[in-house]
Amino acid sequence: MATRDMDSGVSRRHFLGGTVAGVAAGAWGGALTGTAQAQTAVQEIRTDVVICGSGIGGLTAAVRAQQAGANVIVLEKAYEPGGTTAHSEGGVWTSESYEDMRETAPNGDPVVQRTIFDNLPRAFDFYDELGAPLGAARPGRTRSRSIPPVAWVNFMVGEFERGGGTLMVETAMLRLLTNRQYEVIGVLAEGEQGLIRILARAVVLATGGWAGSAQLVTQNITRYFGSLHQRNASFGGRKPLLTGDGFWAASQIGAAPTEGGWDSFYGHGMPARPTKQMQNPLTNFSLYHGNWSVVVNLRGRRFADETQGKQAGTPRGGGEQLINQEVARQPEATAAYIWDEPVNVSRACAECGLGDIDKFTAFKDIGAPVAMANTLGELTAKIEAWGRGMPAAVVSQQLDEYNTAAKNGKAWALPIPKTITEQAVPLQQPPYYAVLMQTGITATYGGLRVNAEGQVLSRTLRPIRGLYAAGVDIGNHSNYVYLGNLGVGATFGYISGPNAAKQPEPQGGWETGPLT
Ligand SMILES: Cc1cc2nc3c(=O)[nH]c(=O)nc-3n(C[C@H](O)[C@H](O)[C@H](O)COP(=O)(O)OP(=O)(O)OC[C@H]3O[C@@H](n4cnc5c(N)ncnc54)[C@H](O)[C@@H]3O)c2cc1C
Repeated sequence: MATRDMDSGVSRRHFLGGTVAGVAAGAWGGALTGTAQAQTAVQEIRTDVVICGSGIGGLTAAVRAQQAGANVIVLEKAYEPGGTTAHSEGGVWTSESYEDMRETAPNGDPVVQRTIFDNLPRAFDFYDELGAPLGAARPGRTRSRSIPPVAWVNFMVGEFERGGGTLMVETAMLRLLTNRQYEVIGVLAEGEQGLIRILARAVVLATGGWAGSAQLVTQNITRYFGSLHQRNASFGGRKPLLTGDGFWAASQIGAAPTEGGWDSFYGHGMPARPTKQMQNPLTNFSLYHGNWSVVVNLRGRRFADETQGKQAGTPRGGGEQLINQEVARQPEATAAYIWDEPVNVSRACAECGLGDIDKFTAFKDIGAPVAMANTLGELTAKIEAWGRGMPAAVVSQQLDEYNTAAKNGKAWALPIPKTITEQAVPLQQPPYYAVLMQTGITATYGGLRVNAEGQVLSRTLRPIRGLYAAGVDIGNHSNYVYLGNLGVGATFGYISGPNAAKQPEPQGGWETGPLT
């Protein structure tokens, strides 16, 4: 499977210097006020719509708002646009049936799910009309297309800028501005140029969720935040990016958190403690076969059904991302995946997931703990030799117990069951393999509560005037299982953008109220 070099593909835009002046004299009609002391004084500018974040949610909303006649500013905290979207595999999808969606994620928010189900095809039509790079629809699949992520981001940024929009990179939304009637009237942002107050009729939050927020992850998911791989735009970055900024900002002015989704997330396992640098880490080093493996924690014990849950679009059977979530709650968010040759050939091979190298070789080449042996006894001795506290005797006992049950088709009856029989294969054909992995977190599921118009709801479940969301900042579209994430950005960007553009002038005027 092809991989991409993410290091330099996305076009960058810098805000310092000419851009402010250019904008002040241009599209915003000279609304810039400020002082020469850029680092200490607060500049103030005016536009129609501010979009926070430039992944699929933000860029879709930006171009849609612009098409609806608005002057739009996109703020991007990173030094280049694209967010996790630019690092993704580009499958924009949701379930082909609403019933399947509900059955797969019954605890998800039905309003959000219905909105995605009904509107994702419209978002595809919009991209097609725009001429955006988008793979052809497959027969019978109305809710699944693919984007070449970097090319798509570049196209959307180009489209946005040709339409007169301004992208400010390395500029983060810090908080929302509200007036005395608690209408959102803009944002306070910060970049290298200092603080900027941007006044706008509407704000769209598209900051990609909170996978990189130590506080939110520790509160909701695991105490081992520091052991998680940030399998998103923050990977290896100079600054954490997905730190829940949209959620925090909206919460501060009374937005409702979703009722569910907080303890679950989307992601895939990645190598524990590699000694060498990983090339294309988010694709080459993601694991996709936990559900076909036997998974033991640092104590050497199985702790969860590797096949639990239901994967969208399948009659039954969870994907690897479910056991990856369970690992997050084990000591150091670390576990060993153990498998045999048939699984290696069919599930851990170069073509079996993302990346174009087989997973065992990939882990070995970067110095992560791996083991290969012709007997399970030799394998468990090598696992113990990792020095991570996984006693060979305990791992052997767990493998024996599992193998006995699996050979009899009774893995579902184990004290810790493996319920999907076709994935509960016995380890019986050498060589045997093991890798030490840690949880990778990509996208969070708890977040902001919205209605079908993309409006963020208050704690009394009324729309907050002037505030919209798109993408992973919206919570509970899925809950525990994986229903796709790019589709949330495409759909709600498609909806929130024009709605934000249509937002009337604030009834309470442009003066900020007591909260801001
Ligand atoms: C390897 C990989 C493969 C994947 N493949 C798929 C796939 O095939 N299908 C799928 O559905 N999903 C996939 N995903 C997940 C998907 O890419 C993301 O969940 C999705 O892109 C999120 O989109 P978004 O617009 O919500 O956020 P993002 O694309 O992450 O964009 C959010 C942006 O907001 C910026 N930001 C954060 N805080 C602020 C602030 N305060 N002010 C301004 N900007 C801010 C961030 O820097 C970031 O650029 C994959 C992910 C990875 C890593």
